[in-house]
Amino acid sequence: MSRLATPIRKNDTVVVTSGRDRGKRGRVLRIIPEKNRLIVEGVNMIKRHTRPNPAKQVKGGIVEREASLNASNVQLVCPECGAMTRIGRRTLEDGRKVRFCRKCEGVIDK
Ligand SMILES: [Zn+2]
Repeated sequence: MSRLATPIRKNDTVVVTSGRDRGKRGRVLRIIPEKNRLIVEGVNMIKRHTRPNPAKQVKGGIVEREASLNASNVQLVCPECGAMTRIGRRTLEDGRKVRFCRKCEGVIDK
């Protein structure tokens, strides 16, 4: 599995730390590791003008969807303590590698 420079993964909740949507939080829908970017639900919405394409049953019009953000512009929200946090890594007794919150020491990966 390819990795981002940041340890953020799909379905994590993150807060945007810079740009137009600073302070917004949302769930990570997709990560694009090769570009170090990710897509967060409801964040960085862009309007797309689409042309009608009857062959593909696409109607023309304006579609709003999420554009990707640079992964360095978001920070993980800890599911345990709810704070924006930096992430540590730790290996459990059973050998699993998990991420943990540096604030509350809670394990992020269940
Ligand atoms: Zn925490």
